[in-house]
Amino acid sequence: MLAFQLAAKVGLALRSLLVPLLLEASPEAVLSKHPLIDLHVDLPIVLRILYSNNLSKVNYSGTLPGAVDLDRLRRGKSAGFFSIAFVECKSDGGDGFLSPTDSVRDTLEQIDLTRRLPDYFAQDVALATTPASVRSNFASDKISHLIGIEGAHSLGNSLASLRLYHELGVRYLTLTHTCHNAFADSAGSTTNETSAPLHGGLSAYGLRLIDEMNRLGMIVDLSHTSDDTARQALARSEAPVIFSHSGARSIYNHIRNVPDDILTSISEGKGQYEAVVGIPFLPDFVGSAPDQTVARVADHVEHVAALAGRSRVAIGSDFDGFLPPGIEGLDDVSKYRNLFAELAKRGWSENELAGLASGNFLRVFQKVLDVSERLQKKRKKLPDMKPWSNRTDLGKIPRASTFNVGN
Ligand SMILES: [Zn+2]
Repeated sequence: MLAFQLAAKVGLALRSLLVPLLLEASPEAVLSKHPLIDLHVDLPIVLRILYSNNLSKVNYSGTLPGAVDLDRLRRGKSAGFFSIAFVECKSDGGDGFLSPTDSVRDTLEQIDLTRRLPDYFAQDVALATTPASVRSNFASDKISHLIGIEGAHSLGNSLASLRLYHELGVRYLTLTHTCHNAFADSAGSTTNETSAPLHGGLSAYGLRLIDEMNRLGMIVDLSHTSDDTARQALARSEAPVIFSHSGARSIYNHIRNVPDDILTSISEGKGQYEAVVGIPFLPDFVGSAPDQTVARVADHVEHVAALAGRSRVAIGSDFDGFLPPGIEGLDDVSKYRNLFAELAKRGWSENELAGLASGNFLRVFQKVLDVSERLQKKRKKLPDMKPWSNRTDLGKIPRASTFNVGN
């Protein structure tokens, strides 16, 4: 072996020893010091399907069939997640969204599951509704459960529902799921079939929904929405928004991923919108086989970061929202570290990884609360009590009533 080859080899060996020691952030160290909050976990729908909502039958502290349970959350050094209230949407708008559904009841049942978990698993679980409560739960070694609702069809066309969901602790609302609703257009199915637009983005009622969410301090989530809905919501919202579980469309061309023009519009530069994008681990959004890998998930993170900034990324796994198998090495809540290790290898600092873990999201969350406070206190904004113009049931005497207008 020539001397320079030997020297190069020794140099390489030394480098591979020293670089991790000197430069690379350790995922374990990052996750021990900084809370990791996953923006989208569908645990409640698993509890509904497998246990008929009966928490007394749920072995959450042991092993559950999906990707989420306390044992694996602990092993994964998770500080918590948004536990999603999800009910299927049933209308594409052909009925004017006026057919009665069970969506409000079922959404309440989904919220109830998350709210009741601390009764059964008090040692490990605590609810969180503010950035401060996430941090204090982390300090006292409790796993924060925050509540999000996936799809404004869950409101039953009523802003009263939105206000009361907020009082129950819900802190984000995804504007649509896979159907259009009275407020906004959806992107379409999770299997990548686009829906023809109905409103062309947000309806007039959708604009009012965003205003009311800003007033309440409810985070606007734009995953699942059409691109036009997302662009219009970014322009309308006075507060920063999130994409709770969406990747980068330039890395994988799927309607559920965010296009470059929107990513560019949420960059750190002056006059830009502020948002964070929670990168999903759902294989179908990440890439086509064999590209469904940890490295490819990291590519999504890095693409969002390249266009918008490293302060614009978060984690939005979508665990329990899809059937196994997931991505090898990122297939349950015990494995977040593997994504952090991949990004550390690519030069992400401890601070940047802490931002990805939750710092970026908590910054946005705090700003949403600040905007709400400003709107309510300084501008004295009152609740929007005007009914949706298409409602036909209000202002009428119930048919089976003995109510007498003359009395
Ligand atoms: Zn979803």
